[in-house]
Amino acid sequence: MDVQLFVPTFRVEECLQEIRECLEKGWTGIGFKTIEFEKVWKEYTRLPHAHFVNSCTAALHLSVNVLKNRLNWSDEDEIITTPITFVSTNHAILYENLKPVFADTDDYLCLDPEDVKRKITKRTRAVMFVGLGGNTGQYDKIVQICRENKLALILDAAHMAGTRLRGKHIGGEADAGCFSFHAVKNLPTADGGMICFSSPDDDKIVRELTWLGINKDTYTRTVEGGTYKWLYEVEHLGFKYHGNSVMAAIALVQLKYLDQDNAYRRQLANWYTSALTGCQHVKIVPTAPECESARHLFQILVENRDELILALNENNIYPGVHYRDNTDYLPYQYASGTCPHANEQSRQLLSLPLHLRMTRSDVDKVSELVIKHSARLQRRIGN
Ligand SMILES: *Cc1c(COP(=O)(O)O)cnc(C)c1O
Repeated sequence: MDVQLFVPTFRVEECLQEIRECLEKGWTGIGFKTIEFEKVWKEYTRLPHAHFVNSCTAALHLSVNVLKNRLNWSDEDEIITTPITFVSTNHAILYENLKPVFADTDDYLCLDPEDVKRKITKRTRAVMFVGLGGNTGQYDKIVQICRENKLALILDAAHMAGTRLRGKHIGGEADAGCFSFHAVKNLPTADGGMICFSSPDDDKIVRELTWLGINKDTYTRTVEGGTYKWLYEVEHLGFKYHGNSVMAAIALVQLKYLDQDNAYRRQLANWYTSALTGCQHVKIVPTAPECESARHLFQILVENRDELILALNENNIYPGVHYRDNTDYLPYQYASGTCPHANEQSRQLLSLPLHLRMTRSDVDKVSELVIKHSARLQRRIGN
């Protein structure tokens, strides 16, 4: 049996029932289920605002766009960000002609507060924090640095649906929190995202920006009725970024199971941890204290990472890498060498398979092979 890195689990009958409602009503677009999902997401997270979009990449771009305009940032102003992330995080900064300045990562694979402080300049306007794998890392310290230096804070919470810090769902401390409902994230749809601003004005404007800058969506117009229901204004150069009711229908079902699913992910991670603890040459990436991680990932650091991948593949086990140091990629190579710790981590990182269809015996099988392989390495070093 293959053990894949990620396999999403959908509650098929319940999802089909919700989608059926959209089809029977004849409403698959923005409005209807998207509004319902925004409402239940706010109840679940207790965040004050939430707008459903077609991806977390869109949410990240919008967060930079809205804050840049409201706070009058100039082109080439700087946002401090991490090199250990999916490229969406940093592309979002470049889309708005701002400059990603990379700070190094800590042992949680999240931004290192000390290096963030060192990277602040006169042109720094914001910090972009990624809760890698669902981990909060040293987020508290980053929040504090932002407050002290009057910097905006954007949270890439793509891995953090269901992450709590001291019992409270993550996101409220940031100016914008961006969540992903991509097919392999913790709350899978086919594609989707949520942008959660702390300011009501930002939330109002983003609702126009996600539909080309049009200031009233069709659903509201239909409900309001009247002679002028065809009339709308275009106030901004917006984007086509809004979510749709079919994706929201799936999300409504999946959200009901998110806490249960994340608890099982933490169980899988605990099994891995107990199997791998004490294994020489394998470093387990720790979870921050007081963080109840959504556990999107279970990551280890191994010196012979590429060899280990091959050995696992030979046994039909398919791990992943999250992520390659972004300063290795062409658009960010100007910053090559600025984050030595991240660069070293990126060559050793490995994400072991983690999804809801896995059993304890799958975890044991993967762990045994990881241990065996590191033992093999040890012998070779010993020779
Ligand atoms: C998946 C991911 C994104 C992008 O999410 P999409 O919904 O696929 O656009 C952004 N940041 C991180 C860290 C991610 O893992």
